[in-house]
Amino acid sequence: MSEIRRDLVKQNWVAVASDRALKPNDFPIAKRDLGKAAAGGFCPFCAGNESFTPPEVAVYRPDNTEANSGGWTIRTIPNKFSAFELEGELVESQKGIYNTYNGLGKHEVVIETPEHGVEFHEFDQERVYKILTMLKQRYNDLARDERIKYIQIYKNRGMFGGASLEHSHSQIVALPFVPRENEGLPQYYASKGTCLICDMVQQECTEKERVIWETEDFVLICPYASRFSYEAWIIPRRHTEHFGQINEQEMDSLAHILLTYTRAMIDCLQDPSYNFVINTAPVNVDHQSGYHWYIEVTPRLLVQAAVEVATGIYINPVAPEISAQMLKESLSKLI
Ligand SMILES: [Zn+2]
Ligand SMILES: [Zn+2]
Repeated sequence: MSEIRRDLVKQNWVAVASDRALKPNDFPIAKRDLGKAAAGGFCPFCAGNESFTPPEVAVYRPDNTEANSGGWTIRTIPNKFSAFELEGELVESQKGIYNTYNGLGKHEVVIETPEHGVEFHEFDQERVYKILTMLKQRYNDLARDERIKYIQIYKNRGMFGGASLEHSHSQIVALPFVPRENEGLPQYYASKGTCLICDMVQQECTEKERVIWETEDFVLICPYASRFSYEAWIIPRRHTEHFGQINEQEMDSLAHILLTYTRAMIDCLQDPSYNFVINTAPVNVDHQSGYHWYIEVTPRLLVQAAVEVATGIYINPVAPEISAQMLKESLSKLI
């Protein structure tokens, strides 16, 4: 049984898998390498090993192939090590001063390729387009469950990015509550009556100090208060609250931008660990204006230090004005 516990001091939530314990050796950071070597040469995400994963919930495969067999191009499965399982109704319980929810939610893994060792930046644009299409499809599908209030899509690459398996994949967590992470957006809207992200795009495109790339549909910037060195945001120009509302033209354009930018970033920063996170509006809650979806790309060049863990204040040794210039230079070799 998993639980979602309230952190009363930091006013946030923590998902705790209360029925299984990982031993110190099970954590990827303790291992020298990821993936096949660390798992004794076996990878459950590789083609041919479908029977070692839970049954697929969505898949792109030719019509003449059987479910949960080889032949697929992209495959989505439940995360079997997840702290979330969608069962029954949301129950809140109180133990003295503490409160907890049952581990209600969903956690899925999108296996981006049947091939081991081919990474996201090595894919062709058609595959990136299909991965984004799969993510949109899962987003809209999960949003249909009214118990789900927030859907977080992310990708961890490399040991410092938190990846526990080397085989290229992204993940989707569907939560029964709205995390506090993006509260600045509805608050800004409530006080100014405009969208913070739209206002940000306007100011950044005028100043051009932190702009990496401007295209017809998207703007790439290093945000003013970047938490991580070389952090970049990919923002759709069209004001859209939900990632699930992305249209065909934007999807085409995003596949090109995301792939090209990732290649430039990998070249500029010499093959770093990184995370992608799609920030989007809550679902199945009373409408709150001011959300505008965007993608955060955060290279993980340093391990989070005590000051960040303790205070929540990030220390970024590279000014975003400088990182934008460097990323722009690497990008100019590719476009
Ligand atoms: Zn594999
Ligand atoms: Zn907006």
